[in-house]
Amino acid sequence: MANRSPRRGADHTTMREVNRSLVLDLIRAGGTVSRASIARSTSLAKPTVSAIVDELLAEDLIKEIGVGSTAGGRPPILLQFNARSQLVVGAHIGARKTTIAIADATGSELTRRELPTPSGQPDETLATVATMIVAATTDEGVGLATISAVGVVVPGLTDFHTGICTLAPNLGWRDVAVGGPLSARLGAPVYVHNAGQAAAVAENVEGIGCGIDDLALLYAGTGLSAGVIAGGRVLHGAGGTAGEIGHCAVPGLADRCACGRVGCLETVASGRALVAAVHRAVAGGRETILAGRRDFDGREVASAADQGDPVAREAVAELGRYLGYAASWVINAYSPAMVVIGGGLAAIGEPLLATVRRVALEHCPEPSARGVEICASQLGVDVELRGAVLLAMQHSETYYRVVFRA
Ligand SMILES: [Zn+2]
Repeated sequence: MANRSPRRGADHTTMREVNRSLVLDLIRAGGTVSRASIARSTSLAKPTVSAIVDELLAEDLIKEIGVGSTAGGRPPILLQFNARSQLVVGAHIGARKTTIAIADATGSELTRRELPTPSGQPDETLATVATMIVAATTDEGVGLATISAVGVVVPGLTDFHTGICTLAPNLGWRDVAVGGPLSARLGAPVYVHNAGQAAAVAENVEGIGCGIDDLALLYAGTGLSAGVIAGGRVLHGAGGTAGEIGHCAVPGLADRCACGRVGCLETVASGRALVAAVHRAVAGGRETILAGRRDFDGREVASAADQGDPVAREAVAELGRYLGYAASWVINAYSPAMVVIGGGLAAIGEPLLATVRRVALEHCPEPSARGVEICASQLGVDVELRGAVLLAMQHSETYYRVVFRA
């Protein structure tokens, strides 16, 4: 389905919005400014700046914080962004635990809450998330009306446009409406993303890819997804599922994926794939320190590899090979300046990265590969939750911010 909007010229209202956006951006970025300094920085007329400032003051988006010094004449009234005027919420529904964070409009967290993810119906999980958010805002002494946006991260296939999680094997979810029901309970817009998109935004804003406008992140956890930042914005795609690289078919593979198809990349490049590789080796009579263990995950295979276990080491090498292919695909397709390996398996570090780099560069023509850095995430275990907060922030900004970076 094509999604095309007619092109419209800038009218008077648009110009006013652009000017308002410029002024608000300047106040947000500038710390403490005055009407006169805004007029100088933006080249807008002083009456225009004053009118916009009055409007922003009336909406509580900025505040006056006293008077500045002057060499002569009337001292300027200093203005500051009111970070508490609008709050954002991030929620990460993980396989084992659910975490929420309430943050101010700059992304600085006021509080965090964590509970085990309910094992029952999706309704129960969503009700728990809503209850956690309501309780946290009440304890902070703020009303739900202050929440400008909620970002939710789900470990599975999500459609950003409809807010539906189409498949999350770890949660046992299929076609679960997440955004609609949560939005109805909280009275705020809810934006649903997969873990790859959230992790990519977190790395782009406050991680290893800080300030890099074009980056791709391969989120290797229990499954495999990707997040692409293009021109400083996360890519959603027409279907809202951009980045689901784990379900690209790899010819020659025979295992069935959690999505029901055979031969998906995720069946060989994920935590689940590491576990399957060890089980196959044990069934074939190989010796490994994981033999006899019934229940272990990808991270434990990685840890066994680190201890020198040959079966685990081979499994990690194979994971690196397929992640290398995935990295070459995103490099060739999107030309990012950086590819970040994220998710729980990124903790394997250099033994994995060395293989990913070698294989990726083998499969990229020289101009595509030139200067692309392939590195591991630095944000650790709360990357999904930070991504949820930052995505809520970015989405809420679009309500009043019409000027984006060129
Ligand atoms: Zn699949």
